[in-house]
Amino acid sequence: MSLKWERPFRRPVDEVRAAAASVDWSKLGERALCDACLGRLFGMVGHGHTNEERGRAVRERAPVATSPCWVCEGLTSRYDALARLVAKKLEPWEHDTFLVGSKVDPEVQAREESLWSELGLAQPEALKSEVNREVGKRVCDLTGKEPSLESPDLVAVVDTSFDHVDVQVNPLFLRSRYRKLVRGIPQTRWPCNRCRGKGCAKCGGTGKMYPTSVEEIVAAEVMRESGGSGHALHGMGREDVDARMLGNGRPFVLEIKEPRKRHLDLAAARDRVNASGQVEVDALRPATRKDVVAVKSDRADKTYRVLVRFASPVDEAKLKKEMAMLETQPIAQRTPTRVVHRRADTTRYRAVKRAEVLSTDGTVAELRFTAEAGAYIKELVHGDAGRTKPSLADRLGVVCEVLELDVVGVADPG
Ligand SMILES: [Zn+2]
Ligand SMILES: [Zn+2]
Repeated sequence: MSLKWERPFRRPVDEVRAAAASVDWSKLGERALCDACLGRLFGMVGHGHTNEERGRAVRERAPVATSPCWVCEGLTSRYDALARLVAKKLEPWEHDTFLVGSKVDPEVQAREESLWSELGLAQPEALKSEVNREVGKRVCDLTGKEPSLESPDLVAVVDTSFDHVDVQVNPLFLRSRYRKLVRGIPQTRWPCNRCRGKGCAKCGGTGKMYPTSVEEIVAAEVMRESGGSGHALHGMGREDVDARMLGNGRPFVLEIKEPRKRHLDLAAARDRVNASGQVEVDALRPATRKDVVAVKSDRADKTYRVLVRFASPVDEAKLKKEMAMLETQPIAQRTPTRVVHRRADTTRYRAVKRAEVLSTDGTVAELRFTAEAGAYIKELVHGDAGRTKPSLADRLGVVCEVLELDVVGVADPG
């Protein structure tokens, strides 16, 4: 057993003996208690020793029989065996940290709680809590892996009634930024809207609206290293399917469910993604569930490049003047016609922080906008039949057709 559990310069058992001296042990009657269950009645008195040690100290003064234990019926003598069972169940999953939890028979819990009230005990510890700690310590000794309360890689839940262990494999999280170099790919896997993913004539049996996605391209290469039962990509906002994502890329967190391996050749995975010709990523770095929350609370400004065609020629000076006007007031945007079938029809207000003309020949212009998160840029240009006000089309009095849209910058969030 590890030395860190011991405190050699104290006599903590004296505190336990003092607490035990005030108990009327005759109330126990014929009931026997093992050392651990006897000691656990004073489990929160003092610290630095096991309940078994507490129990032996109490028994020197109290007339309590040892077996068969009325509370645990022998469970506390099976910790070594349970720990070996847990270690065997954890072994197939690569991990650095683990946590042991348990299910204890409710009748056992009821028995120990009845003792607490009958004997008037102030600082007992529950059996379940002892099982978690004692089995956890032994697993740590057997495997050399670290226990973790906050974010264990694996959680073993021991059902003490059946000596059965369930392993919950927590996801692997990686963060980076992606660039989408081609149009026509959604950010995440998009299930077929007719069959909802089962496969039908419309989707050619794939169950998907698009053959691939940024998520699938990145996840496939990571899962070649990690294995796993599934994946999710959490992006800081998303671009339209027909828009590229260029510049410094978009922050995202990739979640791999039930990974077999966690120590991966991330550089190799990145190189394979970048060889796809469709998606590029920066270095993939370890992340946590907190990073998912951070990218999902997206408030970052975005910069866009838009190629627009005017239905009739527009003078450059007028174009520049009306672009500048768009920076002067919040844009009121009713939910666009193209998405209103799946989102609530509301009005949002977003500021356009910069609106620049990069080039124009009078009929086709290349524009650049920087806007607050959540602005609808296509609608800002063409007006969406008056649902976005003001719009460039509205200001110019000319029909504007968006030929191309790219996201060229996502600001670093605060
Ligand atoms: Zn016991
Ligand atoms: Zn389908």
